[in-house]
Amino acid sequence: MRRVFILSLPISLYPDRPLSVYQNMPPDTRSEKAVLINVVDSPELGQDNFVMENRMARYDAVVEILRKLVAFETITTQSNLDLIAYVQDYLEQYGVVSRLVYSADATRANLLATIGEQSCPGIILSGHTDVVPVEKDGWNFSPWQLTEHDGKLYGRGSCDMKGFLAVCLAHVPELVAAKKQTPVHLCFSYDEEVGCVGVHSLVEELATLPHLPKIAIVGEPTMMQLVRGHKGKMLISCTVSGHAGHSSAAPQHLNAVEYGAQAIAIIADYAKNFAENGPYNHDYTIPHSTMLTTLVDGGVATNITPDSCRFVFEIRNIPEQPAETIFAEVRHQVENLFSATTKQHFSQASFSWNVENAYPGMAVDENSEGYQFVKKLHPEVADCVSYGTEGGIFQQEGEIPAVICGPGNIAQAHMRNEYIEKDQIVQCSIFIEKLFAAL
Ligand SMILES: [Zn+2]
Repeated sequence: MRRVFILSLPISLYPDRPLSVYQNMPPDTRSEKAVLINVVDSPELGQDNFVMENRMARYDAVVEILRKLVAFETITTQSNLDLIAYVQDYLEQYGVVSRLVYSADATRANLLATIGEQSCPGIILSGHTDVVPVEKDGWNFSPWQLTEHDGKLYGRGSCDMKGFLAVCLAHVPELVAAKKQTPVHLCFSYDEEVGCVGVHSLVEELATLPHLPKIAIVGEPTMMQLVRGHKGKMLISCTVSGHAGHSSAAPQHLNAVEYGAQAIAIIADYAKNFAENGPYNHDYTIPHSTMLTTLVDGGVATNITPDSCRFVFEIRNIPEQPAETIFAEVRHQVENLFSATTKQHFSQASFSWNVENAYPGMAVDENSEGYQFVKKLHPEVADCVSYGTEGGIFQQEGEIPAVICGPGNIAQAHMRNEYIEKDQIVQCSIFIEKLFAAL
């Protein structure tokens, strides 16, 4: 059902044309916006003038908030406190109190804000406030200044994932006014980009709520597709300690690089075995766990037997095959490389391991109330994805089912000239509108 709307004349003339047709229209922003906003059908809410005006005003608010968020240079591991203060002030204007959970050195903070009554389990809208660093060259616009060009909004973090945060914040005034029984929890974290570091303490904080939320919607870029699972990741470094000496007397030493190479071969064999024998989960493009060595460093000179070698490898596991189990097996097999005699001869012979970073896979419980609630609003479900999010931590540590659904294309994330399409902002905003209407 699509009613004719006076501000959306182009749409009523060409109802079936894709958005791109309209992006080259004369720069009449009002009609351009109307087109943008009318492109997405939402028969549940109708498309009368009031809804349209509302959406247009909200779209302006999103862009204004996004402009502010992008201007905070919240590169991972650097302070995000200015951004957090801005969000806190913004929420306070509408009477929303937020609490902060700081990093150990108090230079970064997570924000948790609840809107609505707390008499029943609510929903989480989750996003990270940090962004990846900016490359020196190759940006057409300032990365810290939101720039509109050709139907896109450019800026570091516009896609990953300040665009989602801006949409959530722009909906706050209406949500507050609606006085819903079901609470909405905004969970904005720090240091996601270095392996979901900040969100752990935020998830702990959620346990203090009167009711555990029924679903977490993680707004990482999925082009607004509903994603119900992702792989886990574990990044491990291993240092091999051997015994050095002049290379001409090699048999009297313990060559750490060669032992490192054998360990790497074991890792490669395991990875090959996953590909050939599973376990498989065909919801993923690569339907099995993967493992590979990505960095190697060892040796000091061409004529010295190396006494040290360090290599780094990663496991990306399907949720049904825990990374911990894979790691334990690999470790056991690698440590057996040193025979009892070798250990007797060289007391320093060892492999020392360090898990540099890990986050769990995510596989939402499809029978959970929260998942069913979201799926009703978003019946088309996409495949699972191989990149990670904080969703696995909500699920594993917080016992809260999680899905991923956010504006923008993951291909834009972490890239020079990062952008989000305006249409994605609109689609996300309409999704949030429906979500809140259903609470
Ligand atoms: Zn992200």
